[in-house]
Amino acid sequence: MIEAAAALAAAHFAAPLAYYLYARRWLRRPWGVEPREGHTPTITIIIPTYNEAPLIEAKLDDIARQDYPPDKLQIIVVDSASTDGTPEKAERWARQRQAPLEVLREPQRNGKAHALNLALKHARGDIVVITDADSHWPDPQTLRKAARWLADPSVGAVTCLKRPAGGGGVEAAYRDYYNVLRLAESKKWATPIFHGELAAFRKELLEKIGGFPTHLGADDSHTAVLIAAFGYRAIAPEDLHCVELVPRQYWRWRIRRAQHLIQNFAASLRLKTPSRFRPVLYAEAYLHLVNPWLLPAALATALAAGPPGWALAALGLALLAHKPYRTWIAMQMYLMIAALRNLWTKE
Ligand code: GDP
Ligand code: MN
Repeated sequence: MIEAAAALAAAHFAAPLAYYLYARRWLRRPWGVEPREGHTPTITIIIPTYNEAPLIEAKLDDIARQDYPPDKLQIIVVDSASTDGTPEKAERWARQRQAPLEVLREPQRNGKAHALNLALKHARGDIVVITDADSHWPDPQTLRKAARWLADPSVGAVTCLKRPAGGGGVEAAYRDYYNVLRLAESKKWATPIFHGELAAFRKELLEKIGGFPTHLGADDSHTAVLIAAFGYRAIAPEDLHCVELVPRQYWRWRIRRAQHLIQNFAASLRLKTPSRFRPVLYAEAYLHLVNPWLLPAALATALAAGPPGWALAALGLALLAHKPYRTWIAMQMYLMIAALRNLWTKE
């Protein structure tokens, strides 16, 4: 019994470590794509908003700081019945700066993907870039860098690597683990996790997959997976960084995120995907859907094993004093709560 508990716990911790060590080898590979400096396709930036009045001007300023030919840039704010004057603020911003900005309004809120699909109908760019209002691009060359990678016809989608907004320590260590995986998966073929801070897609591919998926929450990641399933690269290159402002209700936000990832992987497993993408997709699906549950299984088995098992369980709890371990356990809890919550709301 205690052996079973120990084996379950070992399997739980070994799987992500093994994947990380394995994926790191992909980092040494060449990209196999040819980015081209000075490639400036027409771009439509879409900012979806729901009650973002405190952030929308800073977000538009952020975009205005980008070094990109203005005649090749279309900027759309698509708002879904905000009650805090977000679209009015966006319009005022555009008037004051005499900047060409299109503000679309949905009469009611039907979710981000639904709003993105409305904006997509108005998009004139060859590339569509989605960026959330609560995000920041530190580098004025961000758009140029994204465009550079999209010069290669095999690349269908590009996202950024995430930098934690302030703070180092465990959050930074976790980001490091996470970013290494995104980059390694990108080099292998595609990463199944995209970021709302910057998700760039070829418009023709968005049209081909029927627009942004509205039946699940993970619109950015699942769109990337659908594009990868069509045989295109979906990548997070090493020179693209973005920042997300961490919201107030941290743990609720973490659970929502986890719900979206679970929805993405559950739906992705049903797709036919290129063989080069499958190791990545299956590993990530395992880590998000199955691996967390080995923990409570190990705990239950240990508790049923009598005193030696209780000692093992006590050790597992005592390790919570150690912060990286605590962070990891918290993530596993978010994934499990999210899986249960998905049973009654997709949000
Ligand atoms: P999270 O980062 O996944 O937790 O989601 P956020 O709450 O930050 O939302 C991402 C972006 O989508 C933000 O810019 C929101 O304002 C926007 N958003 C969320 N829901 C809706 C919606 O129903 N309609 C529109 N147009 N935008 C939305
Ligand atoms: Mn956000």
